[in-house]
Amino acid sequence: MQVFKFGGASVKNAENIKNVASIIAKYKTSELLVVVSAINKTTNTLEQVVNAYYHQTEDPHHYLNEIKAEHFAILDDLFEDSSHPIYNEISNTFVEVEWILEEEPQDAYDYLYDQIVSLGEILSSKVIAAYTQHIGMSTKWVDARDYIQTDNTFREAKVNWSLTEDRIRRDLPSILDDFIIITQGFIGSTSENFTTTLGREGSDYTAAIFASCLNAEDITIWKDVPGVLNADPKWFDHTELIPELSYTDAIELTYYGATVIHPKTIKPLQNKKITLNVRSFLTPENPGTVIRTTNQTLPVPSFIFKVDQVFFNIQPRDFSFIVEDNLSHIFSLLHQHRIKINMMHNSAISFAISVDNTGDNIKAFCGDLEKRYKVEVQKGLELITIRYYNQQTIDRVLVNKEIIRELKDQYTCQILVKDLNE
Ligand code: ASP
Ligand code: MG
Repeated sequence: MQVFKFGGASVKNAENIKNVASIIAKYKTSELLVVVSAINKTTNTLEQVVNAYYHQTEDPHHYLNEIKAEHFAILDDLFEDSSHPIYNEISNTFVEVEWILEEEPQDAYDYLYDQIVSLGEILSSKVIAAYTQHIGMSTKWVDARDYIQTDNTFREAKVNWSLTEDRIRRDLPSILDDFIIITQGFIGSTSENFTTTLGREGSDYTAAIFASCLNAEDITIWKDVPGVLNADPKWFDHTELIPELSYTDAIELTYYGATVIHPKTIKPLQNKKITLNVRSFLTPENPGTVIRTTNQTLPVPSFIFKVDQVFFNIQPRDFSFIVEDNLSHIFSLLHQHRIKINMMHNSAISFAISVDNTGDNIKAFCGDLEKRYKVEVQKGLELITIRYYNQQTIDRVLVNKEIIRELKDQYTCQILVKDLNE
């Protein structure tokens, strides 16, 4: 069997949804499960709904109505007849969130976030299931929350693999005999049936979970780029498509911040040797990038840029050495404030890290650090990672940059820089 995953851009309007249906019909070569993300930027707008509701700063309905208008406009473009049952189904789905918004917010932010933000994928999957059935395809809508079982770490739920696998294997193979399954990325459920989410951009990971549990032959992530490129075209003029990648290189690239695939996606596929294709929904006839077991190393160096970095240089106040107990304290603070390290370096008397500037939690982290350490902070930096670097590639990225830190190992070089043009 196969798994296809379609992201928000691939279903952003009626025309794109029609294209998705035609890709399914044309490129499916065996039984198929389809994972979809929320339409366009719905998840971002739902985050605004949550913030307006939780902080009671603005009217959350303002944002919810925006999402409604977008979804009903798409329905009008896909269905000739507004008495089609999907109209009611979508209205009822919105009502579930409207009920939440009627009450004063009482629950924890992360919990509320998941109950509200998960709506995006429920909506998109319902629209796509109804449309594909409308044009005569045998598809069936499946609620991923009945299958993806997680703990209750809301907004970053951990998958309970054995429960998830049991449920998937119990029900889905027989459905796949007769239907193409349409289900949601990003969402799961706790043992008490509360909705959870797996972290932003987590739909790729959902696709990998289904693929792994169903022992898929391959999985295809359909994107608006031709495949995995050696750099993000946003930052680089001359990018190259990488036709074939090993699992290890794909894991390394995503770990360092290549955003083309969610970092958690690859490991479960590697364990089962499931091939991962990254292809363009705009030029579906092209093979894109194939990720599988290969001895071939990357033919070209890859560049990964991360902007808006905050650099912390941390030293014990008593000038003692940085030893295990300081490190474990610093790591527990990072964990507590949900901060992920992009680069780290330790010496005898200091520990240095670079992290994304995610706002309030960075300030709180800094406050906690200062209780025990002397902390030097630099903001607005860029982190450049080069996999398969050489001096020429380093020189290429350092034009008009001041080096703050540089770290190298055999294959990967990370350079934290300040842009001198700014
Ligand atoms: N819709 C979710 C997000 O935008 C999940 C995904 O797209 O993968 O983060
Ligand atoms: Mg997305």
